[in-house]
Amino acid sequence: MKFGGTSVANIERIKAVAQRVKREVDAGNEVAVVVSAMSGVTNQLVDWAKELAPLHDAREYDVVVASGEQVTCGLTAIALQELGVDARSWLGWQVPIKTDDAHGKARIVDIPCDDLNRRFAAGQVAVFAGFQGIGSDNRVTTLGRGGSDTSAVALAAAVGADRCDIFTDVDGVYTTDPRIVAKARKLDKITYEEMLEMASLGAKVLQIRSVEMAMKHRVRLQVLSSFEDKPGTMVVDEEEIMEKELVSGIAYSRDEAKITLTRVADKPGVAAGIFGPLADANVNVDMIVQNIAEDGQTTDMTFTVSKGDFDRAKQVLEANRDKLVFRDLISDSNVVKVSVIGVGMRSHAGIAQRMFKALAEKGINIQVISTSEIKISVLVAEEYTELAVRALHTAYGLDSE
Ligand code: ADP
Ligand code: ASP
Ligand code: MG
Repeated sequence: MKFGGTSVANIERIKAVAQRVKREVDAGNEVAVVVSAMSGVTNQLVDWAKELAPLHDAREYDVVVASGEQVTCGLTAIALQELGVDARSWLGWQVPIKTDDAHGKARIVDIPCDDLNRRFAAGQVAVFAGFQGIGSDNRVTTLGRGGSDTSAVALAAAVGADRCDIFTDVDGVYTTDPRIVAKARKLDKITYEEMLEMASLGAKVLQIRSVEMAMKHRVRLQVLSSFEDKPGTMVVDEEEIMEKELVSGIAYSRDEAKITLTRVADKPGVAAGIFGPLADANVNVDMIVQNIAEDGQTTDMTFTVSKGDFDRAKQVLEANRDKLVFRDLISDSNVVKVSVIGVGMRSHAGIAQRMFKALAEKGINIQVISTSEIKISVLVAEEYTELAVRALHTAYGLDSE
């Protein structure tokens, strides 16, 4: 049972979490609990580190931001003990949740759980601090924002749990973010693949890596509300879904920025020349478009990066200006990527056309398009985010009654 930030936001909420866990224990289940920091705490901690030094030491960043989960995991253990439940807190290093040394975005490599299994057998509830682990450098690591989801799935996989329940402030996975589309519909089931696309395309309800891991280790994953007592959304194999929707969801990501290099040479090696230095600087490039060379010699190259990499990307390109040979570097961070996702796309034509038509009817200009087997993404001006998501939600018949 994983509880996110709003679910442990204060002492009252932590008491409610303890009650919810106790119910599960009383029903005869062996339970492990993973908690996030109280909502807002991680943001505050990140801001403090940034305030001291915009480019701070990632090891110290981890020491700071991991503290939020230490507080809630101790408090949750106390709350459970108050209800007469045998509970014990576990920090990342105590388990240990072993990760690589990529501080700030570490990956879990191993969770030895003999000790945990012994405690399960003895009927003790383990309460884990989410988001944190320990690197091979013997220092605290964190798993990237939203990483408690991944802690929970990894622990569920390690102990061979029957299910991993992610309790949050919405009662499941919706056809789109319910906070921006009132007519969003809750899905009873969604496939791992669709959930993975939704998460990577901006739906922050589950961290991407948690879905990857659930898919790989076949962990039964449920997203549900910690505020209401009702079934949530199950993330399942495609075979478990009888009626496949053409499109099951719309996602958006504001974390995008667009760069265009004009008049680059249209000859072999140019793309490698541009994207090589960006990769070396650890800049992730997402959508890429290259036009044809109208004059037979030069063309424009447009691509997107995350807002966090935007300045670095521009710096790298300017620094390599002599080698790359382009006329202008045009950049724009007022963009949003809106995507439609659905496994039904594999076998149906006309899905993209419906998207383009719906956007055109609202007068929304499409700047870049990219597709994969089960998704279509477009880049549009940021001011159209809500309008575009709502229009697409209606166009694909996803609106609730
Ligand atoms: P927690 O703190 O519990 O981890 P998050 O804020 O990380 O919670 O994730 C839950 C939020 O995800 C919801 O409040 C909702 O606004 C957002 N969200 C975005 N897209 C979706 C979606 N398709 N379905 C459900 N929630 C979504
Ligand atoms: N507290 C961390 C964050 O806000 C991890 C999590 O909540 O999943 O990103
Ligand atoms: Mg989250």
